[in-house]
Amino acid sequence: MLDLFPDPAHSDQRKLVIENIGLLLSGRLEEPILDADTIVAVDGVITGIGRASDCDTDDADIIVDACGTTVCPGLIDGHTHPTFGEYSPRTDNHSWIFNCLHGGTTTMISAGEVHIAGRPSDRIGVKALAIAAQRSFSAMRPAGVKMIAGAPLLEEGLLEEDFQEMAEAGIELIGEVGIGSVADVETASRMVAWARANGMRSLTHTGGPSIPGSRLMAAEEIIEIDPDVIGHINGGHTAFAHSEIRCLCEGCSRAIEIVHNGNSFAALYALRLATEMGQLERIVLGTDGPSGAGVPALGMLRMIAMLASFAELPAEQVFCFATGNTARVHQLPQGVIAPDRPADLLIMDRAQGTAGRTLLESVELGDLPGIGMVLIDGVPLLRPSRNTPPATVLPTARRVLA
Ligand SMILES: [Zn+2]
Repeated sequence: MLDLFPDPAHSDQRKLVIENIGLLLSGRLEEPILDADTIVAVDGVITGIGRASDCDTDDADIIVDACGTTVCPGLIDGHTHPTFGEYSPRTDNHSWIFNCLHGGTTTMISAGEVHIAGRPSDRIGVKALAIAAQRSFSAMRPAGVKMIAGAPLLEEGLLEEDFQEMAEAGIELIGEVGIGSVADVETASRMVAWARANGMRSLTHTGGPSIPGSRLMAAEEIIEIDPDVIGHINGGHTAFAHSEIRCLCEGCSRAIEIVHNGNSFAALYALRLATEMGQLERIVLGTDGPSGAGVPALGMLRMIAMLASFAELPAEQVFCFATGNTARVHQLPQGVIAPDRPADLLIMDRAQGTAGRTLLESVELGDLPGIGMVLIDGVPLLRPSRNTPPATVLPTARRVLA
């Protein structure tokens, strides 16, 4: 029986070998499938990828036999709303991050800690909340998931020096522009530019209001604000008219985010535009959970299956939207399987009973894969997923005693 290490930071495991990989997905659109059957990771970082005979597999602490199944990068949910730890007051949910880990999500990115009761909107309070969230999630990974949090909303009264101060404190991302009190495009544009000048990224609340307090911005306003990510282009929950979505996709070159808790028809329209423009590298995925729509524990996988099947795109490309694309936009080291990258990995197989003959075909038919194992920083955290349908073939793992 494999030991479970809920906190990779406290694992004594040094070297991991994954052997007998049947299909290796890289997370990179340029080369989504790698010709390799073995991954080696030391201290949580990938050191070798290739054929078994070409890799240094000696002295492993843990050997995982993928048994011919598929390995891909852990999924990055680019749009979440954490508070602190695992609790979400918005949906009164106590273990939503744990359940998303069981849906293959190994990294989450906060789009704003908007659900905290009595969320401060004054200068000091905005900065304090952002820094507290960043510190909290940096010090403790809920369920083992990497949470990039501390995403302040734009509030009236913030000064340029506040963005500098937050950046110096480790804040990397501005929460959804359009939810805070800043309501005019000029102020929002100015603050987004201040954030960018200090190395911080930004995204917008795109589409109709999600909850009382968020507002509707026109597509032209969003282009003028020039965020790094057009947040939930398929609405949160209510989507723009298709003409406005086209205006956004064609009017700027920024990342196009599609979320689970949005409008599926609009999602497919935006994806079709990006496909026609030859710009699939702009597509990034998120759930926008937890929200009033609930916690989509399998939201990332459901979107991958939905987009691959309805948009008739190769599944190996769609997995890149949820991994390498998001990592590139958010400047994260994880999300691709390559040397010197964190070994955040999923081992999965076609679900039992699917009509698909292979994992990729099953996803292209709209079925979810079965996750057999999730590893973060090279440490197996769960085996198998309790939330996906059961995999046809499960990997095995054994600890090698010194
Ligand atoms: Zn959101």
